[in-house]
Amino acid sequence: MQSDKVYTLSEWPVLEKISARTTPDRTLDSYNVILLYEVAATDDDWAAMDQEEYEFAKALLASRHRRHPLPSSPFKATCPHCSEVVVSWHKLCVDVPKGEKRGLVFCGCGKTGADSADVEGVGRIIGG
Ligand SMILES: [Zn+2]
Repeated sequence: MQSDKVYTLSEWPVLEKISARTTPDRTLDSYNVILLYEVAATDDDWAAMDQEEYEFAKALLASRHRRHPLPSSPFKATCPHCSEVVVSWHKLCVDVPKGEKRGLVFCGCGKTGADSADVEGVGRIIGG
């Protein structure tokens, strides 16, 4: 798949709906299409896709994971109970500072977890 390919949103109904919430552009390159499917798409969006768009989205996401660099900084979340900042590096990151961890990490009180996604600055917060 070529990275300079441009996609016309009207060809993909759910993508068009997702993009309407986030960008005025009517055409997007593959990098931005992938970000929309990966970051902005909700469970309802995924459920609304027909088979053709679902396979299109899945193929794009798979291609991205082969060539996109991992985040260069950790995902952080602050626990509202103990105020500890939980720092999570993506599970495949190599250069993790001493004392910091990869994947799902919990704060000292155990109520808030952070888990880095493979997009810079994006992750999952558990509990809190
Ligand atoms: Zn805590």
